[in-house]
Amino acid sequence: MPTTLLWFRRDLRLEDHLALHHAARLAAGSSVVGCFVVDPRLLGTAGVARRHFLAGALGDLAERMDGALVLRVGDPAKVVAEVCAEVGASVVVATGEHSPAGSARDARVQAALRAAGIDLELVDSNYLVEPGIVRSGSGSGFKVFTPYYKAARELGVPAPFPVPDLRWGRAPSSIAPVELLSAPVTAPSGPRSICSTVAAPPPAALPEASHRAAIARLDAFASQAVDGYATDRDVLEGTGTSRLSPYLRFGLLHPRQVVAALGQSEGAVAFHRQLCWRDFYADVLFHTPAALWDDLHPTGVEVDTGPLATERFGAWALGQTGYPAVDAGMRQLLAEGSMHNRARMLCASFLVKDLHLDWRWGAAWFAERLVDFDPASNNCGWQWVAGVGTDASPYHRIFNPTLQAQRFDPEGRYVARWVPELAEVPLPQRLEPGAGGGSLFAGSYPAPVVDHGTERAVALERLAAAKVRR
Ligand SMILES: Cc1cc2nc3c(=O)[nH]c(=O)nc-3n(C[C@H](O)[C@H](O)[C@H](O)COP(=O)(O)OP(=O)(O)OC[C@H]3O[C@@H](n4cnc5c(N)ncnc54)[C@H](O)[C@@H]3O)c2cc1C
Repeated sequence: MPTTLLWFRRDLRLEDHLALHHAARLAAGSSVVGCFVVDPRLLGTAGVARRHFLAGALGDLAERMDGALVLRVGDPAKVVAEVCAEVGASVVVATGEHSPAGSARDARVQAALRAAGIDLELVDSNYLVEPGIVRSGSGSGFKVFTPYYKAARELGVPAPFPVPDLRWGRAPSSIAPVELLSAPVTAPSGPRSICSTVAAPPPAALPEASHRAAIARLDAFASQAVDGYATDRDVLEGTGTSRLSPYLRFGLLHPRQVVAALGQSEGAVAFHRQLCWRDFYADVLFHTPAALWDDLHPTGVEVDTGPLATERFGAWALGQTGYPAVDAGMRQLLAEGSMHNRARMLCASFLVKDLHLDWRWGAAWFAERLVDFDPASNNCGWQWVAGVGTDASPYHRIFNPTLQAQRFDPEGRYVARWVPELAEVPLPQRLEPGAGGGSLFAGSYPAPVVDHGTERAVALERLAAAKVRR
């Protein structure tokens, strides 16, 4: 009896997996073969943190499938058809993907499969609401968040599906997930080439990439923190946010499962709203694929380039700017492949408005280092900060790094954790540029790379000049 191939991508789980249910239905008593194809071109740009997480998540999935996961490396347009031929599959089922790269790849795979007489059926998405579904009265996608959010909330969230009853089929060969870690890595190109100018150590502590860890994180957040989320989510140090983003990014959890687990408290509603930001940015990119690297609403503000700009980028990327909260965020990113949302906003603002660098450089560095890197959330998040995206924070709103630290890390705990040379520096100096001008306790902590007040004025001058030019 012909088998069905379930092609896993950003959906590395068995629970609430609509494509898997569909594959089991189509198989109708026959086996389902589960397959993941590592595209070397994508792996090459993934950054070490994401490669490690992916290898861990695939190892865990393979174990949960009693070793039946078929893992191959190569161009999916070739490899998916090859696996179909090996196992006798006449149909491939996958969760729909909506990023520019994902859609382009799926079109190529579909063409290759069609030529071999095999169907590709795309089911569901990695979002609460599939990109492209929520439309304004005129039928176009929403350009700002609030009306999108209102319309999306009206659609409701279906309850999660259990694991379907099925029998896993096998293929003659598969590589071990750990082999991904030694796969060759291509040098970054385009906006990402700036990353080659920085030599940074690999992350020291990444989240555990397993179904068990994802559920444990969700349970801990649901039982201990979600009720306070609306007020605590901006506190830099502590347990105010869920830290679920890597599990959502790789689909170890579907956001439907998260919504179902969190209930309806004020905190849960605030959290649901953040999940809708994730959906919204995917929707924006679906309608405007060029928004990945192009300004949605260009301001024309001049950015710096050249050796000094590259040197300042390096200081920023390595957490050596002399601004304690900025350095704490950047060092958290280096060590954990993650960063608190408030710190992401602050560090991004510092790169754009204090260092006058192109937001694409910062977005590229985040892409290189984040475990949860998502093209839509990251690049639209950067555009928001740079004042060129949807709902953009106006360019003239410039974060003051010291005030941000005082407000969101009032006891200096975040700074003490990530910038250990400042841990013994008393407040308020611990949060000030250069730790208050060189405290005895600040060790080798650098002097500020720039003066915030001066650079704020420069940023506003450049904005005014850009307005005159337009
Ligand atoms: C410059 C910049 C870059 C970012 N890059 C990414 C990225 O590459 N990948 C990513 O998942 N998020 C990104 N974000 C959004 C946000 O910072 C992270 O989702 C969040 O910090 C993840 O931590 P958490 O799971 O504890 O978040 P929580 O506060 O617990 O939020 C729950 C979930 O909601 C979603 N979410 C929350 N805030 C946002 C937001 N502003 N935009 C989109 N989704 C959101 C995420 O899926 C997150 O896991 C970025 C934000 C900024 C300002």
